[in-house]
Amino acid sequence: MTDHLQEPTSEVSQPELPSDPSPANDGGISPAAVSIATAGREAAKLVSSDKEGSSGHTQPLEARSDGAPEVPLEVVCDFDEPTHLKVMKWNHGKAELANYFDENGRRVQPGPIYSAIRKAVVLPNYPIRYGSTRTLFEAVRSRLEQQAELPQPTSSLLTYWVLMTWFADVLPLAPTLVITGNEYQADLLLRALACVCRYPMMLAGINPRTLRMLPTDSLLPTLLIYEARLSPAMQSLLHSSKAPGYFVPVRGRVQDLYCPKAIYIGGQVGPGLGGGAIHINLLPSTTASLKHPLPRRIVSGDQNRLLSYRVENYRKVRDADLALPTSFMPSTAAVAQVLAAVIVDDDELKQGVISLLASVDEQLREARRNSLESIIIEAVLGFCHEPDRHQVLVAEIGQTVNGIYQNLGERLQVSDEKVGHALKRLGLFTRRLGNKGRGLELTKDMQLLVHELARLHQGQAVFHDQPGCAYCQTFTAATD
Ligand SMILES: [Zn+2]
Repeated sequence: MTDHLQEPTSEVSQPELPSDPSPANDGGISPAAVSIATAGREAAKLVSSDKEGSSGHTQPLEARSDGAPEVPLEVVCDFDEPTHLKVMKWNHGKAELANYFDENGRRVQPGPIYSAIRKAVVLPNYPIRYGSTRTLFEAVRSRLEQQAELPQPTSSLLTYWVLMTWFADVLPLAPTLVITGNEYQADLLLRALACVCRYPMMLAGINPRTLRMLPTDSLLPTLLIYEARLSPAMQSLLHSSKAPGYFVPVRGRVQDLYCPKAIYIGGQVGPGLGGGAIHINLLPSTTASLKHPLPRRIVSGDQNRLLSYRVENYRKVRDADLALPTSFMPSTAAVAQVLAAVIVDDDELKQGVISLLASVDEQLREARRNSLESIIIEAVLGFCHEPDRHQVLVAEIGQTVNGIYQNLGERLQVSDEKVGHALKRLGLFTRRLGNKGRGLELTKDMQLLVHELARLHQGQAVFHDQPGCAYCQTFTAATD
């Protein structure tokens, strides 16, 4: 059963591979929830330090900016002793393992952070052949499908996301995976993801303070979070850390919390994390059954193939052209671009992400269409289309908004004050219009802005109703 797991990639430099590249202890692994307090406290990194050890200078190896090595050194675990960590150098298709490497006068070895979390994180131990991109994709997809009992479109979309976690250090965005729905299915899914994501860490009871203790700066783990009650502060932190480069202050220094995250937020479809996220809703399965954790050798096999895919294609993904024409909203288009970028040498598979994301895009449009902001835009756009209308009062917008709600069968009624705040959030700034109250001046700039917002929130179709409006014509012509 494990024959195919034993093959090292061609041209590997290690001549004597163990017959089974997995640890002797084959007890099931359960990537247990980490106590964040212990995981994050030992702030250290995969370090390169001066050989003399005099200055104590350290720097993370996985630099994400210009300092990124051509193919980074990887931390792997030992074949026989999985808690013993090694460093792997990948050079011209060959893997070399050692306790440390001396590079440019510096010693590079796994820092204490890896030791602290090695039990929680499943590490690969050696790159092994993965076949073609499609073979690997299909292997990961069927692993997810079996372990989490998912329908095929969902397991396919998640497979793109899994491959993305292996290249997050060279991508401009790591879309957050937001999971809602059945609690049991969500648990199965997070456990399945823990087998195939890069540096997976299963976490529970997370808050902004503990999130900041994680080694996101140096390790770039994939966080698999089970948190049914997500506070607004957490939402904001998670949302801002889906792209690299936003720093949060941590004990006298700053930290980049960027890393891939999958998060279960409970049974109800929650407030959502906005754009740049992929939302999966899990329905209860009638066939779902308790599952034993996968044997470590199986997980190691998956991890080793994925490691091989990473090191062999690192440069291609890093230098990939991110352009991918879609008709999606900008945030979904960005998700599609990074998910397609991690597919190497298979254009059909690359394009496949577009049809899978169509429903994600539609959900986002739907949520936008029904939001207060969106309905306000619809109302203001209506005033822009009234002939000889030069200004509109907040109270008039409020009346129209409440009328729209009524037509939608919503009992909700909003106050003028609430409408005023929402206008401000949209960048539509009101001013006092004589003694009638506050309102908007419908200048040319204002009308243009309202049309631009309408395009973002409601899509292109909104412009087809007003053939007489010059702005609508411009926006329609722009995409025809
Ligand atoms: Zn118009």
